[in-house]
Amino acid sequence: MEFTILGTGSATLQLTRFPSAFVLSVDNECILIDCGEGTQHQILKYKIKHTRIRTILISHLHGDHYFGLIGLISSWSLNKRTEPLTLIGPPGLLEIISIQLKYSGTILSFKVDFIETKSTVSEVVYENDLFSVTTIPLIHRVPCNGYLVTRKGSERKIIKERIPEDFPLPYFKKLKDGEDIFDELSGKTYKNSELTTEGDPEVKVAYCSDTAYFEEIIPIIEGADLLYHEATFTHELIERAKSTFHSTAGEAAQIAKKAQVKQLVIGHYSSRYKELDGHLSEAKGIFEATLLAEEGLTVKV
Ligand SMILES: [Zn+2]
Ligand SMILES: [Zn+2]
Repeated sequence: MEFTILGTGSATLQLTRFPSAFVLSVDNECILIDCGEGTQHQILKYKIKHTRIRTILISHLHGDHYFGLIGLISSWSLNKRTEPLTLIGPPGLLEIISIQLKYSGTILSFKVDFIETKSTVSEVVYENDLFSVTTIPLIHRVPCNGYLVTRKGSERKIIKERIPEDFPLPYFKKLKDGEDIFDELSGKTYKNSELTTEGDPEVKVAYCSDTAYFEEIIPIIEGADLLYHEATFTHELIERAKSTFHSTAGEAAQIAKKAQVKQLVIGHYSSRYKELDGHLSEAKGIFEATLLAEEGLTVKV
């Protein structure tokens, strides 16, 4: 998977930062996570193929996380997109989008399947052959949840050179499933470990924005290959973080450490920070494998 950052800002307009938006690519499919104002501009700038975006995940209804959505889907419709879209987000999102479409007389050129999230329980809200999406309840001023995207592991891989010429075709599926095979007709036994290697493991990317420090998410994101966690403030503004239901860089790092994730990316910076050295050193002091989110950065997972 690849996690591309399109926006690193938070609530207020910032000249040098776009609001939250991220693209997670899973093989040939792209998942757009949050869609702040200007996201379609960022998608163009960083050359992400619109038609590959089949799924959009919205965390909550603060404008810096979804004000770009109506613009994006309107543009898709103007461009006569036909690929269906799965839109996953909180109660109210569909109503807001529907009203905007209604009063602009827009009938979308593509089908939208809307899946409503609950911000209080973790559940699998979407699944296809490639990946699943699980919600992560967060603590914020309005209902808010993060998302855990799990790329499914693959079945065992067959070592073609080791397959005998007379190997019965119907047994390939069993090999991929990891079974040893005894062929009654020939009396031959085929040992799975000699003919296959491990398949690809599951890969997990967790997205947590916006939230106060909230340890209850740890079991859900435990061992994730990548965790994006908001870090609106640094430690000297921890009281402000608490009162606005946001996190500090140190708190994001604490969550990463306790959940034993492999990589942490922090972002959603308050406009008061022009330099981010403080964020980075604060987080790295607790969790070394921390990266600062920056627009256009792609992290391979
Ligand atoms: Zn926000
Ligand atoms: Zn928010």
